[in-house]
Amino acid sequence: MGHPSIKDRIEQSRSALPLMAEQTGATLKVRSVVFLLVAVCLSMTAIVIWEAWNSRQYHLHEKEVAMSNLAQTLASQAQASIKQADTLLFTLVDRVENDGTGPAQLPRLQRLLSAQRSELAQLHGLFVYDEDGRWVANSNGAELPSANNSDREYFIFHRDHPDRGPHIGPSIKSRSSGEWIMTVSRRINHPDGRFAGVALATLYLSHYLELYDSIDMGSNGVISLFADDATIVVRRPFKEAEVGASVANGPLFTQLLPKGDAGTATVKSVLDGVVRVVGFRRVEGYPLIIYAALNKDEVLASWRKESMLSAGIVALLLGVLGIFGYRLIRLMKQQNHVQSVLLEAQEKLIEVNRSLELLALEDALTGLSNRRQFDLFIQAEVGRAKRSLTSLALLMIDVDHFKRFNDHYGHLAGDECLRNISAIITDNIKRPGDLAARYGGEEFAVVLPGTDYVGAFLVAEKIRRAVQQAGIQHSEGAEGLVTVSLGVAAYDPASQAQPNDLVGAADKALYVAKASGRNMSVIAN
Ligand code: GH3
Ligand code: MG
Ligand code: MG
Repeated sequence: MGHPSIKDRIEQSRSALPLMAEQTGATLKVRSVVFLLVAVCLSMTAIVIWEAWNSRQYHLHEKEVAMSNLAQTLASQAQASIKQADTLLFTLVDRVENDGTGPAQLPRLQRLLSAQRSELAQLHGLFVYDEDGRWVANSNGAELPSANNSDREYFIFHRDHPDRGPHIGPSIKSRSSGEWIMTVSRRINHPDGRFAGVALATLYLSHYLELYDSIDMGSNGVISLFADDATIVVRRPFKEAEVGASVANGPLFTQLLPKGDAGTATVKSVLDGVVRVVGFRRVEGYPLIIYAALNKDEVLASWRKESMLSAGIVALLLGVLGIFGYRLIRLMKQQNHVQSVLLEAQEKLIEVNRSLELLALEDALTGLSNRRQFDLFIQAEVGRAKRSLTSLALLMIDVDHFKRFNDHYGHLAGDECLRNISAIITDNIKRPGDLAARYGGEEFAVVLPGTDYVGAFLVAEKIRRAVQQAGIQHSEGAEGLVTVSLGVAAYDPASQAQPNDLVGAADKALYVAKASGRNMSVIAN
């Protein structure tokens, strides 16, 4: 196979543009940016939510711990204050049981009660009732001979229970002073163990309320002292109607206390429906439970503010990021568009350029290579033949009496004739490395690389015969048909001769053919 013609080389130089690949790359880049932006936004949102959640848990936990500590402190306080009164009761019961309450003992007992009462700030009064509920002695100096307390809960309790331990009854309004009080009582027995009466200590609820009110529990916080039977002993904020009310259905008694004597939780109050962060604890030694609770909404108010602030800042950042991202993507898309338009234009230009190049190397009338391409081609082939010591042949072909043909049939017919002869020449050179060119006017040249004299002469004769056999009428020609004369020259690497003037040699041979009668092929000597 011969070497590629200049036309082929142009064809090959038409590089396949990586237009598609570049466009795909551009879309990918835009997609990556979108992906990155979405990922950043999602992670920022996730981080903010996670932070907010953690901070919320921390806030709640912090307050639970605070309520647990407060419950412990208040339980100790309640225990200590009741213990003081109970200790008095214990000695009082012992004294009444041993000394009795005869006329000799009564005044002394009365004085003792008054003295003891003034020792304890929380103590509202000390009372002794006989087995029928009549007032025997009291610390307050009240003379109520007709008063009877046998209807009171503590009286009934001790009368019906032989138990000698302290009893804490429901909070009541004092008959003697009208104040809200808590009762601590013990049973008095006759020597034979029969019920002999009740010793009672009453404690001011205000003693507890004042303490509870002095603690900052926010606007909706609660501190309660409950009895074991789920009734309210005292509750801050104080409401008379709630004293003695039962919270047996509430979460403290249904859920929390069954699990343990102390703890923390977040629960909804049965009294007012408010959800609170709660700490609770049983008062040691007494059937009481202390309960401290902060409004959950209030606990979370500062957290909410913080979270809203950070959410706002992040939203702002996301917004700014979104705007910048949007602009960036738009810019990238515009750039990509411009790039693809430029690439398209470039492709078109290359296409035009290629056509122009082809035009510049092609003969417009016949479509064969033109003189310019012939000159380039023969020069390159001569160089190659010399270097590689291969043969190279050249045919020069000239139409016989073509001036007459033109004159007789007209110029257009002459053009048509030239096209026909071109086609015949092309048909008769089969190797891909061969080149047929229009040398000028009605003269053609055929370059046959790797062909010697013999081969070239055979091709020349084939062309000559084919033109004649085409039977193009030429009434002014010698044969009545269009014929051609050919000059054949070849470079033989074995000989001393140089291939430089192949054209001159072929031209001379052509001249000889013309002079020898035309319609023949002549080999240069
Ligand atoms: P010879 O046999 O000696 O070659 O005689 P000739 O008439 O062919 O030679 P000459 O060189 O005197 O005439 C060549 C003619 O070819 C002249 C011109 O009219 C004609 N010719 C050259 N180029 C073209 C062309 O492109 N089209 C046409 N129709 N005729 C052309
Ligand atoms: Mg001529
Ligand atoms: Mg001629």
